[in-house]
Amino acid sequence: MLTFSARTKNELCRAPVGRACCRTAELYGMLLFGATFSCREIRLVSEQPSIIRRAAMLLNKVCGVSAQPVSVGRRKVIQLTEPSEIAAVMEHMGYDFRSYITYHLNRNVIENDCCAAAFVRGMFLMAGSVAGPDKKSHLEIKTGHAILGREVMSLLLDLELMPKMIERRSTWLLYWKNTAQVEDFLTLIGARHAALAIMEAKVEKQLRGEINRKVNCETANLIKITSASTKQISAIEKALAIGGIEIFPENLRQTVDLRVANPTASLAELAAKFDPPISKPGLSHRLGRIMEIAMHVIDSE
Ligand SMILES: [Zn+2]
Repeated sequence: MLTFSARTKNELCRAPVGRACCRTAELYGMLLFGATFSCREIRLVSEQPSIIRRAAMLLNKVCGVSAQPVSVGRRKVIQLTEPSEIAAVMEHMGYDFRSYITYHLNRNVIENDCCAAAFVRGMFLMAGSVAGPDKKSHLEIKTGHAILGREVMSLLLDLELMPKMIERRSTWLLYWKNTAQVEDFLTLIGARHAALAIMEAKVEKQLRGEINRKVNCETANLIKITSASTKQISAIEKALAIGGIEIFPENLRQTVDLRVANPTASLAELAAKFDPPISKPGLSHRLGRIMEIAMHVIDSE
């Protein structure tokens, strides 16, 4: 069974690659957040074959490099070591081949408005994860490079996605715990089904909360009714044990019987049991009289 995160990534891998500028941006996101991105080696590693297939396709379309993914254990790996191939990739990402500073965000590659989402998608595919709708909202992206983390943070802020950032054993973690922000993030990068699943779970949770509140409210009402009727019934029974039904006048005896026979009935429910039915104030008055008599009998015992 695939995790929600893996299913989200599969959904993203089925998304069309879009315009040429966006393909470059997505590949750039994958490279910066992949295993190695240097002038000596480019390595992309994933346990999900669909991600590595998409990376290979982008490398081919964008840079004209045909990479052959290989299996290493459960993982699929793309590895480039041929200087001419690495040079081709670096050139397309706007790097000087002799430069060794690769782990920073070259904003020129994602200059067009359409490209930022593609870049973030590439980044999420290689280094992201998201908790399923059944869990607490959480989406994160990891990098081992602090400067890159900060630069991407500022890009995400520009996109109005507000991440938090923490360092954990030399890994920099950009993360979101706000459900609406997780939805926005997933929608932006093209994972509409995943975003919808999280939205539905949130609505369901709210609904369940509301139902629980209502049930609690009804339960409280029932307790209130029951405690009033418990008082009445125990007084009536005590008085009956002392003096019998004769202590109550004829016109109250039916009320006495109905009250004792229906301990959980509310005033309205009890009033409806009379034939013909009587009014609530009428019943309330009768019960008041019954209690007076019962208490008087009990007190004078
Ligand atoms: Zn674009």
